[in-house]
Amino acid sequence: MSGAAPVAVPAPGMTAKNLAETLARVAQASARAARSKPARLVAVSKTKPVSQMMECYDAGHRVFGENYVQEIVEKAPAMPADVSWRFIGHLQSNKVRALVTGVPGLAAIETVDSAKLANKLNNAVKELERAPLGVMVQVNTSGEESKHGVEPGAAVVDLAKIVRDAEHLRFEGLMTIGMPDYTSRPENFECLRKCREEVCAALGLDVNAVELSMGMSGDFEAAVEMGSDSVRVGSSIFGARDYSKK
Ligand SMILES: *Cc1c(COP(=O)(O)O)cnc(C)c1O
Repeated sequence: MSGAAPVAVPAPGMTAKNLAETLARVAQASARAARSKPARLVAVSKTKPVSQMMECYDAGHRVFGENYVQEIVEKAPAMPADVSWRFIGHLQSNKVRALVTGVPGLAAIETVDSAKLANKLNNAVKELERAPLGVMVQVNTSGEESKHGVEPGAAVVDLAKIVRDAEHLRFEGLMTIGMPDYTSRPENFECLRKCREEVCAALGLDVNAVELSMGMSGDFEAAVEMGSDSVRVGSSIFGARDYSKK
């Protein structure tokens, strides 16, 4: 109950300042990686208030990532309609309809890890007559049992093919979390790159048309230098998270 230290709400202006610094770091890492345009920055706002998100929005930022269905469906109507939402949490099949219905601005789900989930999403998008939904296949590159995601190898190719062939889904790429302590992340990131090569070879896709989502607050610059197209950054922008109220 009282174990965790309280997390202070950042002073007004801090979130926008952190965002600007993070965007600059993404741009610098992207230049080092000789990218033609900077990697996408997904501002991961889970557990954080709309007031902090609006600081980012007012600074021109539009791409936000959320992990929990209940939270994203509450926040979506409270934010402007042109926000581009990316769902990055574990998604249970029985919450698919609530997510797709409740978030009209949902651009992508980065955490699809089964054919069942892909099919449910495809059906929900079809029934709601929405434009095709972006999907990334989540890969468990660290082999930890606690992590969701498909095992690297043939299973990634199989699921990518199902997504690619689904009429109401748009295959965007591959996503991974990787080891929590960062030391093994280079291997995890290498693994995701290799998975992309396998998918592209098997499905006849151009590697430039298949994104990699990898890198978080602790390692997003390294991730961009290793080929990430989309980094998911939370605490560096919004401050430490407090889960005690969840
Ligand atoms: C929370 C979360 C992030 C952001 O983590 P930070 O370390 O706060 O940047 C990124 N990706 C996923 C999947 C997350 O759940």
